[in-house]
Amino acid sequence: AGKRALIVFAHQEPLRSFNGALKEAAVQALSKQGCQVEVSDLYASTFNPVATRADIVGDLKGTECFRYGEESAAAWEKGTLSQDIVNEQKKVQDADLVIFQFPLYWFSMPAIMKGWMDRVLTRGFAYGFPQFYEGGPFTKKKALISITTGGMESMYGPTGVNGDINVILWPMQQGMLHFCGFQVLAPQISWSPSFMPEEGRKGLVAMWEQRLASVWQEKTLKFAPLELFDP
Ligand code: FAD
Repeated sequence: AGKRALIVFAHQEPLRSFNGALKEAAVQALSKQGCQVEVSDLYASTFNPVATRADIVGDLKGTECFRYGEESAAAWEKGTLSQDIVNEQKKVQDADLVIFQFPLYWFSMPAIMKGWMDRVLTRGFAYGFPQFYEGGPFTKKKALISITTGGMESMYGPTGVNGDINVILWPMQQGMLHFCGFQVLAPQISWSPSFMPEEGRKGLVAMWEQRLASVWQEKTLKFAPLELFDP
């Protein structure tokens, strides 16, 4: 009770899709615990995923060559980022847990979700130098990736035809979430819902709901500590 969760959701069908079902199950399961749940439905809100100069309202810092990283960091400091970014950042700031719900697209996340990462996780707000990994701004927050796949689990094992799913998850879990300091929880992988009977799919939704009932007690994934890094 008293906790706040944000679900960043990327599926074109908010209710009828399997991703929609998982999102709704998460809203239910977390609300039942007295948790305040916010959903950022990226397609429904036609979230703009493209990082451009228009993300900076007002004067730019540099004049000759536009550098998104530097300009967006300066704009974050001055409070001159565009309103859609500011709104998402406020939701992240308020959240104790952030869940990213999406179908696996090309061994990665849908472009709209990647664009959310590119635009919302601004330097200064989400990381700095040296404020990253366990020194990152979000060390008190938990995050997890909940994906669905087309391929079956056996295709994503270490000797599977697609290669180990952990390799696919690494850029997201290490490069995005842990980099910003999040305590990363184990991914929720709903394998191949389109190719299983209805009962199996219902089971996947129920398992997710059940997991969320004790999500706050979960151990976080372990990553290599920063002290091992020797430049
Ligand atoms: P849906 O098609 O919405 O749902 C699956 C089934 O579940 C449907 O029959 C639906 O009616 C049913 N359902 C909905 N709600 C419930 C409920 N509450 N209870 C029970 N059943 C329910 N896959 C890979 O493995 N690797 C890739 O690299 C990859 N790249 C892709 C790239 C693109 C551009 C696209 C479009 C797809 C790609 N896929 C890939 C496949 C994709 O990941 C899957 O199609 C997706 O994960 C399926 O999830 P969904 O929510 O869209 O399923």
